[in-house]
Amino acid sequence: MGTTYAIRIARASLAPRELRALQTDVDAALDELNRQMSAWRPDSEISQFNRAGAHEPVAVSPDFQFVVRRALEIAAATEGALDPTVGALVNLWGFGPDGLRREAPTSGQIAAARKTTGWRHLTLSPDGRLSKAVPGLQLDLGAVAKGHGVDRIAALLRDRGLEHFLVEIGGETLAEGLNADGEPWRIGILRPDAERMLSSAAGPVGAGHDPNSPASSGRGTSKTENAPAPCDSMLHGVVHLSGGRAVATSGDYRQFFRDSDGRIRSHIIDPRTAAPAGHAVASVSVLAPDGLTADALATALLVLGPDEGLRLLRRGFPGIEALWILHSPDGGFEEVATRAFVSAARYQPPLP
Ligand code: ADP
Ligand code: MG
Repeated sequence: MGTTYAIRIARASLAPRELRALQTDVDAALDELNRQMSAWRPDSEISQFNRAGAHEPVAVSPDFQFVVRRALEIAAATEGALDPTVGALVNLWGFGPDGLRREAPTSGQIAAARKTTGWRHLTLSPDGRLSKAVPGLQLDLGAVAKGHGVDRIAALLRDRGLEHFLVEIGGETLAEGLNADGEPWRIGILRPDAERMLSSAAGPVGAGHDPNSPASSGRGTSKTENAPAPCDSMLHGVVHLSGGRAVATSGDYRQFFRDSDGRIRSHIIDPRTAAPAGHAVASVSVLAPDGLTADALATALLVLGPDEGLRLLRRGFPGIEALWILHSPDGGFEEVATRAFVSAARYQPPLP
């Protein structure tokens, strides 16, 4: 998945040998997901599917089937704001396996890529064979795979009898039980500009540090030992999470670059315009009953923005709460949230 992960386990005593065995199992589970769904690996199932022609079904593994089914359901429910078939557009705008491109694509290239996208052109048969109805369609599960990975690892930890843990993959986080202090886990939501404070060493693509850095000890701590540690001043707010709920954040700052016209180009594509999502949204954080749903909706709600996004959520997404952080005209940030985002997560907004 091209990112890091972190797991914290509380209220359990594991011998070093058990911990090592657990780590081996977690790594194997994540490797397996990559072997299925990483478009960056030429030998993955998704790459095989992406090379296949129209109406040439490709058999995919059960996890892959599950992720595609959920992605298609969420695509339908968000009127295509989440679209797992945007691969050709993601590539065209310089965020896919083909690598960076600084010149904006021509309208002809955009029109051509657009013909190869659209979730309605993707079908999964009941026996797990995936096919495309238009040639050149490229599946991209980048908006949902990390969230699913979090769910898979949480299931693995539960299978091992663990009841209190935090799982985080590339910023998407799931919390079960309580932290070492017997409290709900605390997860920091980074200020959208914190990236800049942290990533002076990053290249042209600011491949993200996670916005949800676990802050379980009360101090903002980083997810991995070698990543720079965000400090409290980099946090926009803190959510409290337990009961297997998940939080995911999508941001215009996670991965972007400045194109030759000097414009910031976000890696999230608005399927309606076939161009990078461009509006005032700096980031969206979503609370959901599972990681995949949180991850998928964070992407979709970034595309939709708060007005359309709130309207959509009101029409029937029980258990889903969202917080949009918007760029305000004075260069600062404003927030818009569902009412229960604040109560459900005991969300602590930034100090004035
Ligand atoms: P992050 O990777 O920063 O956590 P997301 O979860 O929002 O961010 O996933 C963004 C990735 O999803 C992009 O890099 C791209 O591969 C893919 N993508 C971009 N736009 C869309 C979209 N509208 N629907 C589905 N996937 C998308
Ligand atoms: Mg996502």
